Amino acid sequence: MSATPWAVGVDFGGTTVKVGLVTPAGRVAAVRVLPTAELRRPAQFADAVSQAVRSLVQERGLRMSRIAGVGIGAPGPVDAARGVIHSMVNVPGWREVPLARRLARRLQCRCVVDNDANCFALAEWRFGAGRGADDLICLTLGTGLGGGLILDGALYRGASGAAGEPGHMVIDPRGPRCGCGRRGCLEALVGTAAIVALGRPALRRSAHLRRLVRAHGGRLMPRLIGRAARAGDPHARAVWAEIGARLGVGVANLVNLCNPERVVIGGGIANNWSLFAPAMRVTVRREAMAGSARAVRIVRARLGDYAGIVGAAVLVWEDR
Ligand SMILES: [Zn+2]
Repeated sequence: MSATPWAVGVDFGGTTVKVGLVTPAGRVAAVRVLPTAELRRPAQFADAVSQAVRSLVQERGLRMSRIAGVGIGAPGPVDAARGVIHSMVNVPGWREVPLARRLARRLQCRCVVDNDANCFALAEWRFGAGRGADDLICLTLGTGLGGGLILDGALYRGASGAAGEPGHMVIDPRGPRCGCGRRGCLEALVGTAAIVALGRPALRRSAHLRRLVRAHGGRLMPRLIGRAARAGDPHARAVWAEIGARLGVGVANLVNLCNPERVVIGGGIANNWSLFAPAMRVTVRREAMAGSARAVRIVRARLGDYAGIVGAAVLVWEDR
C-alpha cells in the first residue's frame, strides 16, 4: 500500500463531465463519462458526480477513506481558496456556486476546485511534458487559449486567483474582436475563429481544400485546414505558419516575463504541432530576450484527453 492515497479528478467539459479515479502514479484507473447537458443545474451536477464517485470507488473495492479527495476542473473563473465557481463558460445558471462545500457534504471527503487550465498545467507538470521543471508555462490551444503558470515549483494563482490568462494578453489593440470584448488578444489571433478566418482566403485559392470542405458538410474547420496542409497544400500550410508566428509572439512575451525552463502546449489544435511549431520556434528565438530564449524548451503536451482528470486529482494532492 503506497503512502499517497488515490484521488478522484472531475473534468467539467462543454459536452461531457468526466469523473476519473486516479492512482498515485497519475494513471486513470477508471472513468465515468456524464453528458454535461443533463447536469446543467449545480444540484444535478453535485448529485450525479457524488454518485459516480461512490460507484467508481466501490467498483475498485476501495473505501472512501483510501481517497484523498475529489478535485474539479471547471471551465471558468474560480475562487480556488474558497472552492467557489464564479461562473462557467457556456454553462448558464452557475453564479457563485460553492461547489467544493456542496460536494464535500454529499461525499464526506475533501473537495477542491480550480479552473481547467490550471488543472491541465498541474497534470503536465507532475506526470507529463513538464515533469521535473520548477518554472513552467502551460498553454491549451483550442476554441480559446487557456494557460497555467508553475513558478518556483508551485501553481501560481496571483492576488485574486485570476493569474495565468495568456489568451487575453493584448498583442494588437487594433486586431480582431475577442470573446472577452477587447481587441487583438492572443486568443483572437490564434483561436479556432482566427484559424478559420485565415482559412477563408486559402479556401478561395485552393481547390484541394474546397474539395475537403465539401466532403465534410461544407464547413471550414481547423481540422480540415490541417489535413490539407499535411497533404502539402501550400495555402493551407501558410495558414499554420501564420498561426505559429502569432503564437510565437505571445510565447516570446511570456518567456520574457517568466524565464521558464519549459513551455508546454496542448489542446485540440496542438494536434497540428508539426504544422505550426517551426514558425512558432523561429519567432520565439527572434522576439524573446536572448538569455530567456536560450533557456526555454517548447514542447507538446503529453497527457492527451485525460489531462483534465489527472490535473484535478493533482489539485487534491497539492492542496494537502
Ligand atoms: Zn480577450
